[in-house]
Amino acid sequence: MTDCLFCRIVDGEIPADIVVESDDVIAFRDIAPKAPVHVLVVPRAHHANVAELADASPALLARMAQVAREVADAECGGEFRWIFNTGASAGQSVFHVHGHVLGGGELGWEPA
Ligand code: 5GP
Ligand code: ZN
Repeated sequence: MTDCLFCRIVDGEIPADIVVESDDVIAFRDIAPKAPVHVLVVPRAHHANVAELADASPALLARMAQVAREVADAECGGEFRWIFNTGASAGQSVFHVHGHVLGGGELGWEPA
């Protein structure tokens, strides 16, 4: 058993509100949404962050972008913000790469 929260969601051990499910990438709603639409796009394979994923498997990062667009097309007219917190000081709290898809309203811009 892994102690990675998102590996456990990918494996179905922990429930999540899944909005897209595919062979290599899933997307589910954030448990503490920061926007009307707040969905996490997560590859099934474990990589710690987006930089490691880009080195190991750029095609999988591109697949994440396709799923992000799929979510945004379905939920917020195809317009969205896509955020990868990378490292604890940047706000990363789950060390299994995930892109935050935010949208569904006029988004402000206060990153710090
Ligand atoms: P990070 O801070 O690593 O960029 O993002 C982690 C995100 O995961 C946070 O926005 C947090 O609300 C979300 N999160 C933490 N635990 C859970 C959970 O058990 N289920 C879901 N769906 N989201 C979670
Ligand atoms: Zn993991």
